[in-house]
Amino acid sequence: MISFNRNETGGPRKIGLMGGTFDPIHVGHLVTAEEARQQFDLHCVVFVPTGIPPHKKEEAVTHPEHRYLMTSLAVMSNPSFFVSRLEIDRSEPSFTIDTVNHFFRSEDPDPELYFITGADAILEIFTWKDYEELLSRCTFIAVSRPGYSLDRFRGTLRHTCPDLLDKVHLLEIPALAVSSTFIRERVALGKTIKYLTPEPVEQYIKKHSLYRTDI
Ligand code: NAP
Repeated sequence: MISFNRNETGGPRKIGLMGGTFDPIHVGHLVTAEEARQQFDLHCVVFVPTGIPPHKKEEAVTHPEHRYLMTSLAVMSNPSFFVSRLEIDRSEPSFTIDTVNHFFRSEDPDPELYFITGADAILEIFTWKDYEELLSRCTFIAVSRPGYSLDRFRGTLRHTCPDLLDKVHLLEIPALAVSSTFIRERVALGKTIKYLTPEPVEQYIKKHSLYRTDI
């Protein structure tokens, strides 16, 4: 359970919730969280690795404990970053609405929540559990990689989920040219991942032989 000290002014805190699989976490995620923290004047950013993603097969992702530990190693040096076990400790599929409600109720006065995740994931939000309640609870920060068409994103959103247009901020992060898929593929090919993820994460991947296809 993470507890945050109260705001000096007693006002609501602005908390970023960084949702993702983080399989593995990489520099693009860290740059994203820091950029969002600064742009939106967030008190802190809590990384929330997914547990059993409702939309993915369990075996398709690395064990939640590995992903949680890698995320913890990656954020260790930033005093504004935290990691939550909330989703990985759930035995049933984890839905964002349950996570957001947990954080919403954890502070008095109610915090201002910013849910940060990939733009592609946000385009599917109308399929998420209780998405209308979710929209009333938090602001969304949709993060995109270089080359991603923000015009297309807005167009798709207008078509699929117009309610979200006022609630979503777009953030293009050049460092997101790195992706978790890219890292997994490089490890599988025996290629170096130095500087693509913090060194402790690189060492963890090596030690536990994650993403190798030859063993
Ligand atoms: P994902 O498979 O981890 O990622 C989808 C895409 O977004 C990937 O390109 C990924 O890049 C990027 N991405 C993911 N998290 C990011 C972040 N925090 N910052 C920047 N880029 C990010 O994501 P997902 O499984 O679709 O889920 C994303 C979030 O949405 C999770 O928190 C999940 O719980 C939530 N979600 C909730 C529901 C629901 O409540 N029903 C349904 C779907 C998703 P990398 O591979 O490089 O990370």
